[in-house]
Amino acid sequence: MKILISACLLGEKVRYDGKDNFLSHPALKSLYDKGHFVVICPEVAGGLPIPRAPAERQKTGQVLARAQEDVTEAFDLGARRALELAKANHCPMAILKARSPSCGNKEIYDGTFSKTLVPGMGVTAELLVQNGIKVFSEEEIDQALCLYDMLERKRHAELS
Ligand code: SF4
Repeated sequence: MKILISACLLGEKVRYDGKDNFLSHPALKSLYDKGHFVVICPEVAGGLPIPRAPAERQKTGQVLARAQEDVTEAFDLGARRALELAKANHCPMAILKARSPSCGNKEIYDGTFSKTLVPGMGVTAELLVQNGIKVFSEEEIDQALCLYDMLERKRHAELS
């Protein structure tokens, strides 16, 4: 059992602008060192380059980069790859970057590139949730780690 996690949260420079979203948390480092994480950047896994144009989900369901380039296919491919990876590694849960058009789990930008947030999920987060995987953001890290700890204890109890 492992946790799927956004690569940028672990310091990988995979964001659209070539930067990361490194999340400093002692428990994360410990879990990482013990091999509990399965790491993915869905946008890169979908074939998009670093750097790349920022993109937002539209009300139509498409994902458009700022110059109106349709990147929906790459976002969908990245989401499917994230799901495959999660299933292959028996991940009951994921910790993904908040507000990303791929990884956001509660809010995303509204598609107008005006920094307007609306309720909604990124493409990968949505696919994971549809397949029964619980998705947390880095802003819910303590809840996520608490659930993982509980699931681990339960699994050990069943094995012993
Ligand atoms: Fe981070 Fe997800 Fe964006 Fe990749 S797609 S840079 S993992 S938020």
